[in-house]
Amino acid sequence: MAPVFIDIRAMNRSDEVETNDLPASGPSDEILSQRLRELLEDVLEGRAPNAGHFCGNCYHPVAGEEEICRHCGISSSEVGTVEAVPLEVIEMHRQRRSKEGLVVRTFAWVGLTIGVTVALLPFVFGDVTVLTAVAFFGLLLVFYIGSANLANSVGDALGYRWGRSQFEKRWRDFIAERDSA
Ligand SMILES: [Zn+2]
Repeated sequence: MAPVFIDIRAMNRSDEVETNDLPASGPSDEILSQRLRELLEDVLEGRAPNAGHFCGNCYHPVAGEEEICRHCGISSSEVGTVEAVPLEVIEMHRQRRSKEGLVVRTFAWVGLTIGVTVALLPFVFGDVTVLTAVAFFGLLLVFYIGSANLANSVGDALGYRWGRSQFEKRWRDFIAERDSA
């Protein structure tokens, strides 16, 4: 049974505060801006080229004449702009997403496995009757829905935190190396 119920798109977090239009001191604590992360999704899917004008510090896409980056607030005269997002940053983002997905899928599969095991118990302790068959499908359905919900709530939240902390660690190493060059 394929876990088709898992809505990976839920990880795009539509409830996330869009900070692109806020001043430099805005409350975004994400290293990569939402607009950049959406662009990287498109790049990874082959829907967009990795080309344009990006902040030399945080790689937020900058419009032609913008002097101050709307995401990190650093001026382009200070850090310059780049024409493409470094491949290492794209790879860091991809790994973050795959970690998030891994946790969500793990929750779903563990839940389903437990569900199938529990659902089989009526057959273990009773004969195959209409009642035990109904119990089997009923238990399976309960665990199916339960594990989907757990995956999309707890699994999603844990995956997000894990992916983000790993990303931030790699980002610090990346920045240290980039800025020392
Ligand atoms: Zn920036």
